[in-house]
Amino acid sequence: MSDYLNLIAGQWQPSVTGRTFENRNPADEGDLVGTFPQSSWAAMPAPKRGDVLFKAANLLEARADAIAREMTREEGKTLPEARGEVGRTVNILRYYGGEGARLFGRVIPSERDRVFMHTLRSPLGVVGAITPWNFPIAIPAWKSCPALISGNAVVLKPSELAPLCATRLAEILVEAGLPAGVLNVVHGSGEAGGAIVAHEHVRAISFTGSEATGGKVAEACGRRKVRVQLEMGGKNPTIVLADADLDEAAGIVLNAAFGSTGQRCTATSRAIVERSVVEAFSEKLVAKARAMKVGPGLDAGIDVGPSINAAHADRVVTEVAAAASAGATVLAGGTRLTEGVLGKGHFVAPTVLGNVTPQMTIAQEEVFGPVAAVMPADDFEHALALANDVRFGLSATICTRSLSHALQFAQRIEAGLVMVNLPSAGVEYQVAFGGSKASSLGPREQGPEAIDFYTTLKTVYMKY
Ligand code: NDP
Repeated sequence: MSDYLNLIAGQWQPSVTGRTFENRNPADEGDLVGTFPQSSWAAMPAPKRGDVLFKAANLLEARADAIAREMTREEGKTLPEARGEVGRTVNILRYYGGEGARLFGRVIPSERDRVFMHTLRSPLGVVGAITPWNFPIAIPAWKSCPALISGNAVVLKPSELAPLCATRLAEILVEAGLPAGVLNVVHGSGEAGGAIVAHEHVRAISFTGSEATGGKVAEACGRRKVRVQLEMGGKNPTIVLADADLDEAAGIVLNAAFGSTGQRCTATSRAIVERSVVEAFSEKLVAKARAMKVGPGLDAGIDVGPSINAAHADRVVTEVAAAASAGATVLAGGTRLTEGVLGKGHFVAPTVLGNVTPQMTIAQEEVFGPVAAVMPADDFEHALALANDVRFGLSATICTRSLSHALQFAQRIEAGLVMVNLPSAGVEYQVAFGGSKASSLGPREQGPEAIDFYTTLKTVYMKY
């Protein structure tokens, strides 16, 4: 009698569960032919799956600086921003590691005598994650971790523009004990993403990227009737009321518009300011924007790194020029920066536009660059109407000292993330993330809600 193993990627390996099953001779029940591994990531107790994520968090924490440097080299964001993203990914791994002990079902009272009803969560099977370049380790993590802790296998397709960080995440998860075949990373272009979306064994797709690609992914998932979750663009407003602390408000817009070179789906791209303070606010914002230091993200003291590539930087300045032709005033920036070392990369000056009106393309379409458009508003009602007058609805901020306006804003703004006296970007991993209208489709990512997307609910009825 022998103990047999699994053959995975050319290597004989034991079961991740440590459990086995017996193979017996049908002519003689006493003849045990061998024992074979009972293999399944899904069968491993969820808290044990969590141990793998906890170990991965420790490994990532130990390598944080090296991976942050690699991120700055491949994506361009400044080193402090890259360190922040790696730190956040450590938190994501720990948070979903802990969720392994919290995959709760519910006990529901039956209307019948001696009937016990409860719900159980089951994994979906194989799920696909398709990710963009702007958060090259955090987005792969916040999709993979809830999928893995729920017991799914994952096929991850990172962006061709920043594939290294996702590879580092996968290496760390494997080193932490993730069994072979549970996380798969497929590099390549949209063609590779399309193949994952179309594959008959993939039961759900979580996608972050552009609206155009998101539409294609949703159509393909609809045809196959599999779950889909889309996170796409934004045209996020920051409303500044006349009662706000204007210096603080300018700092909030500065952070949200120019942080990560404006390449965040939650970036503020419209500052909607009460007319009585629009001049004073714009002066402060312009002064702060001009003082920002633009340069290579690995250099000390840099505030704003490059755009992801030349085509993207060109697109940003073209859109600024189009806004100027349509009547907007360029108050700061508006051009590529090419002097000295900047000539080697794709740098755009932090740009502030004044007198932007809602009909202009710059007020409606996402730029994904360091551009803030200042739009004057008559009062709170007018500002709210302008804020909602776009097809997107991801994140929105109000700067005010009025509790009444803050609460009305929270109720009436068409956005999934609502901030009061805080930047529109800068979200936390332990709460739901997502938007409304054309920004998002499907259940929320992050926080405990993320588990809903990656599990199916069974309702169990038992007569006793
Ligand atoms: P894309 O939509 O071009 O790409 C996103 C991912 O989808 C990439 O991995 C890409 O591969 C892949 N892909 C491309 N075509 C297909 C296809 N037909 N089927 C399946 N997958 C495909 O977006 P970007 O990566 O260029 O990201 C920038 C955009 O993403 C911005 O416009 C921004 O608004 C949005 N975004 C939204 C976020 C949110 O949370 N709401 C967060 C970050 C970005 P490859 O790139 O290798 O070709």
